[in-house]
Amino acid sequence: MLDQKSSMRSSLAKIALALAVLVASTPVQSATAYSTALRWSQSTTQISYAINGSLSTALGLPGQQATIATRIRDAAFQWNIASRLKMNNNIPYSESVSRVTSADLGSDDTVFANVTWQLSGSSVVRAWTRFNTNSKFDWNTNGTMGLRGDGVWDADVFKVAVHEFGHWLALGDAPDEVWEGGFNAMMWFDPQGSKSSLFMDDKEGATMMYGLQTGFEVAQFLGLLPNPAPVSPSVGVGAYNTCSGNPDYWTFNPGTDGVPQAGPGKNRFKRMRGCAIANAPTSKAYMVIGDIAHDGPRGGEGACGSSCYQQIQSGMKLRWLQYNGVQCTAIVDIEFTDGTRLSSSSATDTAGVSINPKNRTCNTYGTGFWFYVEVNLSQFAGKRIKRWLFTYDNSVSNIKGNWRIYFDDPNLGF
Ligand SMILES: [Zn+2]
Repeated sequence: MLDQKSSMRSSLAKIALALAVLVASTPVQSATAYSTALRWSQSTTQISYAINGSLSTALGLPGQQATIATRIRDAAFQWNIASRLKMNNNIPYSESVSRVTSADLGSDDTVFANVTWQLSGSSVVRAWTRFNTNSKFDWNTNGTMGLRGDGVWDADVFKVAVHEFGHWLALGDAPDEVWEGGFNAMMWFDPQGSKSSLFMDDKEGATMMYGLQTGFEVAQFLGLLPNPAPVSPSVGVGAYNTCSGNPDYWTFNPGTDGVPQAGPGKNRFKRMRGCAIANAPTSKAYMVIGDIAHDGPRGGEGACGSSCYQQIQSGMKLRWLQYNGVQCTAIVDIEFTDGTRLSSSSATDTAGVSINPKNRTCNTYGTGFWFYVEVNLSQFAGKRIKRWLFTYDNSVSNIKGNWRIYFDDPNLGF
């Protein structure tokens, strides 16, 4: 598998071109893959990588090897809390593994570093980053970036590493859609270094390609399903306190709402809350976490294509932790590209309880404690994920009421 010779290479030289193209076109879009099907295989959940032990010397930062390694690991962690696919610095350095190293990549102003992928078929099996040791770049670990008066670029290890690790995941430089407007994606590289952590755009690209990290650092409300709208804000779903406006969900630290952390290291979780007026027994509130529609064709780099996205395989399981604060009828939901949804299927969790949220009353799982939910997805094998959602439902017609329910990752200690 690993001996296939084909490879692809990315470099920051693409950035200037991408900016030139995309500045003139709106909307700009989400950071995603370079080409159809270029991604790590469906079964890959961890990328082990090594850091060259001589990197500090190569970058002109003698004595800072440990700091540099920490910055690189921190950069990988930015992605690890957003995507199911993890990058771990847990193997010895060699030329035959995924690695972070250096090379003289020339004096092109935009080539701070580059990434090379090794492929097996259309799947990435190895990636490596090379920081540019050319004298045009002056490396540091203090966050400084930008062109100096002497024509040399200050280059921060962490900021460049974050961007390059996005390329490891096969995300591209040219976003399709940037959630908050402007250039708000680490993958939309800024040589001046104004950005230092992942944006929604980056996170959703990783989520849609590799699966949901249910530590829920994908932390922004993407909106209710617009159409069809089982319950729209105007007719049935409102903010928690007033029953008007949009419901919300967000990432919280334990204690914000007086909810205990779910387990060791579980210092963040997601809250979904709202107020529904159930106009019919089938009334639901869908809240989108990630959506294929926001991760589609992108500027100049080709459509990602359906094969970029998660496909359900036999034996795959959806797992989460849940804490019912107020009401109990909500789940982590999946909408498939064929239009069907986990929430409206006949599936049950491993305790035998229907996964349809309206059936998950407080009689089956009560309020005030964390519990574990596992759903075997084998019956959906072959389907592809179109959206990740929270879905709230209520089996009672014409009932108005609040809900406040929390979700977290089941992998204790992550
Ligand atoms: Zn790049």
